[in-house]
Amino acid sequence: MEILVVEDEPAIADFVRRGLMAEGFEVRTAADGIEGERLALGAAVDLVVLDWMLPGRNGMDVLAAIRRERPALPVIVLTARGELEDRIEGLDAGATDYIAKPFAFEELAARVRAHLRQAGAETGTALEVAGIRLDPIARRAEREGHRVALSGREADLLAYLMRHPGAVCSQRELLAAVWETDHDPGTNLVSVYIGYLRRKLGLPGSPAPIETVRSAGYRLRERE
Ligand code: CA
Repeated sequence: MEILVVEDEPAIADFVRRGLMAEGFEVRTAADGIEGERLALGAAVDLVVLDWMLPGRNGMDVLAAIRRERPALPVIVLTARGELEDRIEGLDAGATDYIAKPFAFEELAARVRAHLRQAGAETGTALEVAGIRLDPIARRAEREGHRVALSGREADLLAYLMRHPGAVCSQRELLAAVWETDHDPGTNLVSVYIGYLRRKLGLPGSPAPIETVRSAGYRLRERE
């Protein structure tokens, strides 16, 4: 996942860049609106963190250009605290979200993750594989008529497996796709969540069709 940070204050740009990199994202930075707009319109960028007051071209103009070319790209606007008009303008202009400066990095990271998840979910409609039906946006699954409510991570994990039916998905791949990190925090995160899914999707005499492939990963059986 690649994030573009458009910010002219070097200290803030650096703080955001380092933090997002530590979270496992690829990060590009632009120090003015012209460069920011050029990079934002490149296909590789998955989300933009956009300062509102920029040299060259202001945040509002950059946002307008992004909305014309890439209407679904999540854009989080950074604005100085108390600039309520900026906030309203920004949301009217199509910002996905906004954060007032100064902000805690954790807050930005949480919003980045949430908007990336949402953007990913919205590109797909309901999935149907192996007797399971999943609505990734509503986070509802159904198996043999039994309805199951899922958490965000559970829904993301199941959606990923369902988009790769029959394939062995490694722990590393699942961590990257669902938790957006490339290192295992050492908590068996993936196997814990696979366990949640099995419990929720399993039926008496009919365990969930999620297999463990020894030292390789997990696989959703295509047919029951
Ligand atoms: Ca600025």
